[in-house]
Amino acid sequence: MQRYSIFSVVRHALSGHKNWQPVWRKPEPKPEYDVIIIGGGGHGLATAYYLAKEHGIRNVAVLEKGWLGSGNIGRNTTIVRSNYMLPKNNRFYEWSLKLWEGLSQDLNYNVMFSQRGVLNLAHSPAQMDAFARRGNSLRIEGADADLLDRDEVARFVPGLDVSASTRFPIHGGLLQRRAGTARHDAVAWGFARGADALGVDIIENCEVTGFQKDGDRVIGVETTRGPIRAKKIGVAVAGSTSEVMRRAGVERLPIESHVLQAFVSEPLKPFIDSVVTFGAGHLYISQSDKGGLVFGGSLDGYNSYAQRGNLPLVEEVMSEVATMFPAIRRIKLLRSWGGIMDMSMDGSPIITTGPLPGMYLNAGWCYGGFKATPGSGWCFAWTIAKDEPHPLNAAFTLDRFYQGAVIDEAGHGPFPRLH
Ligand SMILES: Cc1cc2nc3c(=O)[nH]c(=O)nc-3n(C[C@H](O)[C@H](O)[C@H](O)COP(=O)(O)OP(=O)(O)OC[C@H]3O[C@@H](n4cnc5c(N)ncnc54)[C@H](O)[C@@H]3O)c2cc1C
Repeated sequence: MQRYSIFSVVRHALSGHKNWQPVWRKPEPKPEYDVIIIGGGGHGLATAYYLAKEHGIRNVAVLEKGWLGSGNIGRNTTIVRSNYMLPKNNRFYEWSLKLWEGLSQDLNYNVMFSQRGVLNLAHSPAQMDAFARRGNSLRIEGADADLLDRDEVARFVPGLDVSASTRFPIHGGLLQRRAGTARHDAVAWGFARGADALGVDIIENCEVTGFQKDGDRVIGVETTRGPIRAKKIGVAVAGSTSEVMRRAGVERLPIESHVLQAFVSEPLKPFIDSVVTFGAGHLYISQSDKGGLVFGGSLDGYNSYAQRGNLPLVEEVMSEVATMFPAIRRIKLLRSWGGIMDMSMDGSPIITTGPLPGMYLNAGWCYGGFKATPGSGWCFAWTIAKDEPHPLNAAFTLDRFYQGAVIDEAGHGPFPRLH
């Protein structure tokens, strides 16, 4: 693999930057692999990378129906954090955050991870109490959390309307300083490059249309580029989980697919140097290196496999931006898009062996799967390699919904659109 460094940039400059190698190969599918991962999103690519790197399993193919990064990995608002209250979530996301902290060096690829801080705003004394509780829970688990009062919030985010006369007055906020953002498509490209260099075949334009079975056991897949057999098959297709699993004969899963939109404004001079979330509704906002404000809100509220949303949500999100930052009320929106979210019944993920012999499932990422990318790939690779979960993902089973051992972080109950 060509290494990236200041020296390689200088060396290639001498030949007019005409001799850079493609970042990953375009191999033809082989008839058989040790492991097939379905889905070339962040989680599928990270899984393949850690299978090869941590477990020495290199006869691996990642099958992607479109182009690499065409799913949610290239559509999210890039927020990375570990500030979950429940220990089962917090330990997993904190491990993921630790992997983020060394990811650019590990991959030799700049994923532009920026620990600029994520601040959740509180708009009532009760919300401050809840944030204090969450902050304490984080600190007990070894993660970082700072409770800010209103003056500290005003200093941390100068453009915020902190006046008492605003529609939802700000009382304070919970800050995780090690949280931040990363460049989402660089994450897909970095993991793809790392996996490819270790021998993994990344096969684009290869949709899995069916499964080969021996009794209940899955032994291969039918694809638009022909049949491929494998000893183990991992499914990491995010919003398409129900659809792909139906092709394997698994008709009912604790997952609903919903559309989530994101927005980018015209570029501005530096305005927000952190990530801020609105606590009286649902809005998260940051500023990209190109200057555009990047933000999103809630789900559109209906089940959908469309990668675009509707106008009521646009209006709701814009009104929240205007309430929080009156100074930017007149900015123009440049782009908006949608992605298909795999919303689980308790808002927490599934990383498990099964549900069929020979199969492994990674799903249920809701709004939060980008931040989980390295941790999820690391745990899923462990689960596939060893045929049992790592302690970090041992609770993320499918049968927790039958046993009542749900991990309901938001406390919303079995209503996927609310998580
Ligand atoms: C608008 C938006 C904002 C978000 N913001 C954040 C955020 O700020 N922070 C955060 O942590 N998370 C965020 N998320 C969630 C996060 O992006 C996802 O949870 C995560 O990317 C899902 O995992 P993935 O990357 O593997 O998914 P994907 O990139 O969607 O990968 C799944 C892949 O499977 C492929 N596939 C589907 N069916 C088949 C098939 N039959 N055969 C072969 N391939 C198939 C798809 O083409 C796709 O490429 C956001 C999501 C959206 C849409």
